[in-house]
Amino acid sequence: MFNHSVYWIVIYSPSFIILQSLVNVKPSFFLIFYSLSALYLLDIKHRLQTKYKYTMKLIILSNRLPVKIEKDENGEFTVSPSEGGLATGLGSLETEAEKIWIGWPGIFTDDEDEKKEITEHLNKHNFYPVFLSEEQIELYYEGYSNSTMWPLCHYFYSYIDYRAEYWTAYQEVNKLFAEAAFPLFNDEDIIWVQDYQLMLLPALIREQNKVVSIGYFHHIPFPSYELFRVLPKREAVLNGLLGADLIGFHTHDYMRHFISAIYRVLQLESSLDEIQLSDRVVHVDTFPMGINYEHYHDAALKPEVQEKVTELRKNMGNYPIILSVDRLDYSKGILHRLIGFSQFLENHPEYLSKVSLVMIVVPSRDQVDMYADLKVKIDEMIGNINGQYSDLGWTPVHYFYRSFDFDELIAMYHTADIALVSPLRDGMNLVAKEYIATKHSNPGVLILSEMAGAAIELTDAIIINPNDTEEIENSIYEALTMDEDEKMRRLKRMQKRISTQTVKKWAGDFVGELESIKNQNVNINKKIITQNKLSFIKKDYEKANSRLIFLDYDGTLSAFVKNPEDAKPTERTLELIKNLVSDSKNKVVINSGRNHDILDKWFEGIDLDLAAEHGAFYKSDGKWIQNMKQKPVWDDEILDIIQRTIDKTPRSELEIKQTALVWHYRNSDIWLAEMREKQLVNELMGPVARHNLQIMRGNKIVEIKSPDYNKGSEVKRLLKMDTYEFVMAIGDDTTDDDMFRALPEHGISIKVGDFSAAAQYRLPWQDEVVPFLEGLIK
Ligand code: UDP
Repeated sequence: MFNHSVYWIVIYSPSFIILQSLVNVKPSFFLIFYSLSALYLLDIKHRLQTKYKYTMKLIILSNRLPVKIEKDENGEFTVSPSEGGLATGLGSLETEAEKIWIGWPGIFTDDEDEKKEITEHLNKHNFYPVFLSEEQIELYYEGYSNSTMWPLCHYFYSYIDYRAEYWTAYQEVNKLFAEAAFPLFNDEDIIWVQDYQLMLLPALIREQNKVVSIGYFHHIPFPSYELFRVLPKREAVLNGLLGADLIGFHTHDYMRHFISAIYRVLQLESSLDEIQLSDRVVHVDTFPMGINYEHYHDAALKPEVQEKVTELRKNMGNYPIILSVDRLDYSKGILHRLIGFSQFLENHPEYLSKVSLVMIVVPSRDQVDMYADLKVKIDEMIGNINGQYSDLGWTPVHYFYRSFDFDELIAMYHTADIALVSPLRDGMNLVAKEYIATKHSNPGVLILSEMAGAAIELTDAIIINPNDTEEIENSIYEALTMDEDEKMRRLKRMQKRISTQTVKKWAGDFVGELESIKNQNVNINKKIITQNKLSFIKKDYEKANSRLIFLDYDGTLSAFVKNPEDAKPTERTLELIKNLVSDSKNKVVINSGRNHDILDKWFEGIDLDLAAEHGAFYKSDGKWIQNMKQKPVWDDEILDIIQRTIDKTPRSELEIKQTALVWHYRNSDIWLAEMREKQLVNELMGPVARHNLQIMRGNKIVEIKSPDYNKGSEVKRLLKMDTYEFVMAIGDDTTDDDMFRALPEHGISIKVGDFSAAAQYRLPWQDEVVPFLEGLIK
């Protein structure tokens, strides 16, 4: 506002005075004229700003669009949005963003005119279609998604069918989705990829746009590393997901498995819920998906639903009803459930003719052989049970192989005395939550598999192992004999949970976290040395008459290698160092954790300063000086502990330096080594304290040393001796933070690799260090 006022005063005042003096009219006339025209121009500006103000978009990408497309009798297409859980959650999401949905419309056509017509209809609802051919659906959807990834994630090892053509189609279709998204988003937007059909998509989008916010939610379980590792091209799948800024799972277990797979397959480390990449942090978190609670709760009391309830009760008699509702899927444990129910009837004859199982199986994926076979087995087993136990007025299993409409389903839930939800694996299971939501004064009991994500939240259900048919049998008995007050107490507690953790909250939490990560990544990226920042540093460098430059060695001047002896400087690096020291204004110090022999050998003939063993030694006037009163004497107890760790950690080793002991584990199995590292540090704590030593954790090392010095000691020592107009330190390890902290106020600290709060700047990759220094002195 202030700026505007100043602007108008500056522009208008002189012209006002000039014009008024030229034309001899009253100043008041000009004053009014000018004021009105200024207001008018301001108004136009405001309108233009409002009109063209950018509205942020939330772009959802899922395999299927939440729509039904039908051709009416006139051959015209009609589009009706369907209200699935996800669509409802996103629909009710309170955000100013414009919501756009990209997905397969569920219809095959090769006719370009038809595609155009369908697209126009869909666009009216902000839906954008990705048209797929029948072959693509067969190979990408039924093939890779449902015959490879689905059984893998649901622990059906022997059902995993991996074929090269599935994988090719999967990559191809993920690309098609990316291409559909590209024209629709800008840097400010949020992209939210849904589920296992699109695991490559986050990275495909990220390749095109480094800054846009990308989230991914995995709606099914994520298997343990031991199972995940069997997947061919597992790296590509994980790298695909890492294009996202936030990866969400229903439960902590899935999240843990994913982090472990990332760690072991890609050797990427994570701290708690963050995976560090060179240029970004990827967050992993749990967001248990909920339902639209009120919708289900209120629907149960609708007159048309209550009518169905009365009818159901009339038809089923007053005996308890056990309900199960699933899509046809081997992961749902339908056969185990039938065996459990059959055992119950066998072992509890007092319930014959007094309880029925209503089994709703919704047809699904029956083109896939495995599903067609399952259907045959279910039919057979139900036939056997009914054949064995039915009497004229009673059918033990009422079987429906069809889908129910919403009111019918609610009536079923509301009527059922027991819901038997026993999947062998299930990402979440919404049926369990929906059942609980429809209850009012008639409580009902939920029997729930511990293998369903929902079991983490619904702890007041009777929790069972769905593989144990005896547990199923016993749980039915427990539910049938449960005290009414107990049923109500459990129900209320579960309703409290699911009425607050709704699908709307789920979507809001996810998008909210994605937005805050975006800000965090912006801050991390702010530190990266761009061309612009290089020129600022260069200006300071050129201006200065005296310069002090500290360079770490491993991970900074040289890349990490399997054998530390092989990490000698390249010709290019040596050339750079020679150039740096040839400038008489420069004092260059290699400040390393290495021992002094190797530093002497590698930099022989170059007149530069060296500091070895993390500041324990420094080289001055060609002589090595020990920076400590007394070298530590290694106690047998300490050496024994390290030796035991080496014995239990293949390919780890001990380096004995003059002033320090270093346990190296770079070449060991990362998971094992990290566990051993914690154990080692734990065991060393006592003896190290007794000997007045210090444990230092570095990059794949644990070092035991004197606490009297560190990498900062050399910085402090040199700064005490002289003043420098330009001071800079570059390092990659946590041990280099000591160096950064010891710098004077005008010092420039540069962290190589991950983000460090102690450093002012970042070079994400080691191989950028030499070019950066070359650019600085050029
Ligand atoms: N459902 C349905 N029609 C039916 C039976 C079930 O729409 O005839 C819905 C049910 O209300 C629930 C969903 O299908 O929302 C099943 O979700 P769940 O998480 O239990 O299993 P999924 O099929 O996703 O593995």
